[in-house]
Amino acid sequence: MRVNDYDIIITGAGCAGMQLMRAFIQDPLYKNQRILLLDDGKSAQQLKSWCFWFTEGEHPYQHLIRKQWDYLTIGTDSHQQTNFINPYKYGYINSSDFFDFHFRLINQHPHVHYRNELTIGALKTENGFCITTDKAIYQTNHFFSSSWNQKAVSKQASIYLQQQFYGWVIKTAQPVFNENSATLMDFCVNQQQGMSFIYLLPFSTDTALVEFTSFTDKHYDNQHFEVSLADYINIRFKTSYSILKNESAVIPMTDFCFSRFTEEGGVAIGTAAGMIKPTTGYAFNRILLDSVYLAKQVLSENKIKGFQKTRFHFYDRLLLKLLEKKPKEARNILQTLFNSISYQRILQFLDEDTHLGEEVMLFSKLPKKSFIQTIPELWKQPASITIPAMHT
Ligand SMILES: Cc1cc2nc3c(=O)[nH]c(=O)nc-3n(C[C@H](O)[C@H](O)[C@H](O)COP(=O)(O)OP(=O)(O)OC[C@H]3O[C@@H](n4cnc5c(N)ncnc54)[C@H](O)[C@@H]3O)c2cc1C
Repeated sequence: MRVNDYDIIITGAGCAGMQLMRAFIQDPLYKNQRILLLDDGKSAQQLKSWCFWFTEGEHPYQHLIRKQWDYLTIGTDSHQQTNFINPYKYGYINSSDFFDFHFRLINQHPHVHYRNELTIGALKTENGFCITTDKAIYQTNHFFSSSWNQKAVSKQASIYLQQQFYGWVIKTAQPVFNENSATLMDFCVNQQQGMSFIYLLPFSTDTALVEFTSFTDKHYDNQHFEVSLADYINIRFKTSYSILKNESAVIPMTDFCFSRFTEEGGVAIGTAAGMIKPTTGYAFNRILLDSVYLAKQVLSENKIKGFQKTRFHFYDRLLLKLLEKKPKEARNILQTLFNSISYQRILQFLDEDTHLGEEVMLFSKLPKKSFIQTIPELWKQPASITIPAMHT
């Protein structure tokens, strides 16, 4: 094997690329296959607070969870509702811990290499792929890519919203936070930028990440969010505070049918493969399951299957359409949902792990008029056909 020959090349060493690398080296069938991770260095620099719900003792990244909560809170116009989510916990991973852990893994495995290079091309060859970066050319049998073209996707999608958020880690002068409960959504904020809410992760009674989040079709600058965020903290907690860090992002919320495969026939991963749940922005656990599946298929020389649309794609489209056309009603639906269904069942539904009967029961508790009015709009404007992941 020549120096630039690899069994596996992964473009993008972010959340998906790193998880896939780990899934390969932890699979019992892994026999020191040579893996190369290529990354332009963007992801590791951005602070991300990755959260997800999980069952205690069962999460492969449990050792990285810095803080976990037994309760979740939803704030509506009239009250704050806090519920115990047993058997789930809501866990928080800091992205710097995530990257430190994966870089340590890379250093412990001489067959795994990381290069700070931008992938600029990929070509299908007789035996695999030829990958061109800004610094070198590589050959590989298996090619995975996190690269996607946001502009092309937003143009081709029938619904394209963005989850935009801006937040601060603050330290307050008084102990004002309930450190046992994370606030998923507090709707008591101005709703001018589309459906908006506060997301709050209390790390202690006086330290928390507080984020202003909007599901919107326009792009707002951070200044816009800063004002609303400061208003919320002042009104809700009535205490002085200092800002320790900030975090912001724009995450796609779209019904675009991301393909399993790239234009060149490689395998798309992470955001490029539509792993971000369109209606929530959660992706960490979906990426985890997908990585284990992909590593197993490759190492056991089985075919990787394309995606199949499920009824959850339809539910996501329905809610996205409502968020796009009638954000007030979407907000009302979410408030009703959290008021009338157990949080555990909602989390299970968001994991796409419910049965049809459970979903019928869940929808039966919601205001039906908005849904019924929205369904014809979905027929008029079908979701895009599945299109291969495109390079930037
Ligand atoms: C701030 C933030 C907070 C989030 N919080 C949560 C959360 O709490 N829970 C949750 O489940 N999800 C969350 N998400 C959503 C999701 O988990 C992340 O977006 C996740 O990082 C997606 O993984 P990814 O590997 O596809 O993308 P990234 O992590 O962005 O990694 C992609 C990497 O590939 C590199 N790359 C792309 N193209 C090339 C190329 N051509 N050559 C070289 N390198 C390339 C990029 O620069 C980047 O480093 C969050 C997202 C953000 C942005």
